[in-house]
Amino acid sequence: PYEVLVVGGGPAGASAAIYAARKGIRTGVVAERFGGQVMDTVGIENFISVPYTEGPKLVASLEQHVKEYEVDVITEQAATKLKKGELIEVELASGATLKSRSVILATGARWREMNVPGEQEYRGKGVAYCPHCDGPLFKGKSVAVIGGGNSGIEAAIDLAGIVKDVTVLEFADTLRADDVLVKKAESLPNITIIKQAMTTEVLGDDNKVVGLKYKDRNTDETHVLDVAGIFVQIGLIPNSEWLKDSLELSERGEIVIDSHGATSMPGVFAAGDVTTTPYKQIVISMGSGATAALGAFDFMIRN
Ligand code: FAD
Repeated sequence: PYEVLVVGGGPAGASAAIYAARKGIRTGVVAERFGGQVMDTVGIENFISVPYTEGPKLVASLEQHVKEYEVDVITEQAATKLKKGELIEVELASGATLKSRSVILATGARWREMNVPGEQEYRGKGVAYCPHCDGPLFKGKSVAVIGGGNSGIEAAIDLAGIVKDVTVLEFADTLRADDVLVKKAESLPNITIIKQAMTTEVLGDDNKVVGLKYKDRNTDETHVLDVAGIFVQIGLIPNSEWLKDSLELSERGEIVIDSHGATSMPGVFAAGDVTTTPYKQIVISMGSGATAALGAFDFMIRN
């Protein structure tokens, strides 16, 4: 059995594995795809101390750093069940079971997509999901934000300070965001909010986004909006479906953790985008991976 088994190989999982292995304890990592969301990222400009890098390059250094230590890395395997026996057991889709004294869950999250033509093609070429990451790329340009919930309106307010103007498209006839945020957005001269708008297509010139099409659900008319960027803010879904019978999850399905990364099951810790930690970012998930590994180590020396 392992002493620490990390489930997930994104920045949170890699960081947890390195911190655990450096304690000289038997460490394993099991992941569907090493690198996680970073593998899908083009330019990264907010990984502190590295002014610019690219997703696959950062993943290669993460992998190299993990391999400096004796860590068992198992990829292309999905965990499907977490159980507490004498040890903690993680069942895999292959039917195998891995056992460990402590487990760190770092299975990340995925952005909900619009599922309209052009979205995949122009991902990273104008279609963006993270305003903290990609906002500055659209300095002085017009952008759209899809979704009028808290994250959409927060994104609009944030972007309004950087870009030329922001149009928020909300599917429903009301905004779901908190009142204070809506009031703030409405007070800014370069934010326009359009309700009952269903985005139907991302328009591009083969290289980058040039606009989008949306249908006014009231009149059924189709309109074109000229924008250089489209921020999709219709939800971040934690990869925690397989844990709902074994751990305390928040309303949004995030794993509830305390300040040491501990979950509701003794010996099980969690880190990164799959948890209740606010603000989903690479530096933040790496920090929380370190916290969870140190939390797990602390748990083991006391038990
Ligand atoms: P993830 O990166 O999601 O990794 C999860 C890991 O768990 C993966 O290895 C996955 O295969 C594995 N996994 C999931 N479910 C299972 C399972 N059941 N069994 C086994 N393994 C499983 N952040 C920034 O700071 N700067 C940026 O510029 C930036 N740009 C981004 C651009 C895009 C397009 C996207 C999608 C995200 C971006 N982010 C950026 C956010 C950043 O990528 C995430 O905050 C970060 O990757 C979260 O790390 P994580 O380790 O928690 O999860």
